[in-house]
Amino acid sequence: MNQRQLFQQHVAPTSPEPMALPITKAEGVYLYDDTGKAYIDLIGGISVCNVGHRHPKVVQAIKDQADQYLHVMVYGEVIQSPQVQYAHLLSQHLPASLDCVYFTNSGAEAVEGAMKLAKRYTGRNEIIACHYSYHGSTQGALSLLGDEYFRNAYRPLLPQIKHVHHNNFESLDQITEQTACIILETVQAEGGVLAPSAAWMHALRNRCTETGTLLILDEIQVGFGRCGTLWGFEQYGIVPDVLLLGKALGGGMPLGAFISSNEIMKCLSHNPVLGHITTFGGHPVSCAAGKAAMEALLEEHMVTGVRDKEALFLKLLKHPRIININSRGLMMAVRFSGFDEVQQVIKGCLEEGLFTDWFLFASDSIRIVPPLTITMEEITEACARLIRVLDKL
Ligand code: PMP
Repeated sequence: MNQRQLFQQHVAPTSPEPMALPITKAEGVYLYDDTGKAYIDLIGGISVCNVGHRHPKVVQAIKDQADQYLHVMVYGEVIQSPQVQYAHLLSQHLPASLDCVYFTNSGAEAVEGAMKLAKRYTGRNEIIACHYSYHGSTQGALSLLGDEYFRNAYRPLLPQIKHVHHNNFESLDQITEQTACIILETVQAEGGVLAPSAAWMHALRNRCTETGTLLILDEIQVGFGRCGTLWGFEQYGIVPDVLLLGKALGGGMPLGAFISSNEIMKCLSHNPVLGHITTFGGHPVSCAAGKAAMEALLEEHMVTGVRDKEALFLKLLKHPRIININSRGLMMAVRFSGFDEVQQVIKGCLEEGLFTDWFLFASDSIRIVPPLTITMEEITEACARLIRVLDKL
């Protein structure tokens, strides 16, 4: 059997027709297939590869850590320098109230941990989430998901969860003294890049403070410069009680985190002890890689250019087939007439050497979420290729 047949036979499928591109190498903004063909990566591992594929500092940090130790002990029991150093670096670049990091294996696990934290800290059990939100695929995170098609097959889900719409001021009345937390993406990614208004975010922050409800912002996709500032919440001038990170956090290695104040976080350590535990959470190699990636992001000023790069994409992506583009920094949803057209665009892009996909709740849109290191020349080339694809449709 060849590699494709083995993939079909032995690797569990998640969709009827996976892209099944045979990747043999990835470097910077390029992916390479088994014929040596290069693709400009417009997805960046879905917001993971903000510093590009195989950034030399990340690869070196992985090698150095592998020479020291791999897994030694479950999360939180012994002092592992990569975890400590990375938590310290993160806290230096976050508001003072977000100074205590719980590292997890994934984004979904960070969501699970944060939901448990909110229940423990507030002693309440009601949770609010948003329509069109995505927070992960485990059953707790799935219970938050803001789309009936994707969650309905898995009932019963967690009870006591309500959904509200962004920018609906009346919905804020649903946040009461019974609400443990509201959890939302600072900018909804899978909804097709939907950013709530600043006025609503301020009112939300105030309502949470009034009712003692924890405000949890999921920046698993938007963190690490994706939207043009290091963190998405900076653009709103608010600070969450709990911040969720993942994806780019690990620099290409698996890592998630929920971050809060020491005072809030410590309630997971007693009564009952071991409120959230995880064997591999904060793996030393993942933390070493993530720290190196964050250092590269900062030292090489990768966030500074994001808005100019966004502007260039918006200038060059003009075509009668494009209905509109929702964008926040280098996170863009380019909208077409529907899913069928999007499928044709994605296929045409692969032929032209461009790698893209669609959004879970915006299947009429293609995703442009490239590494932040993409150059102006590469953007110009990527847009020329996309326009050629659209001309041929
Ligand atoms: N939150 C958001 C906003 C996400 O986009 C994702 C993953 N797409 C998750 C949570 C879940 O992360 P993971 O897949 O690492 O569990």
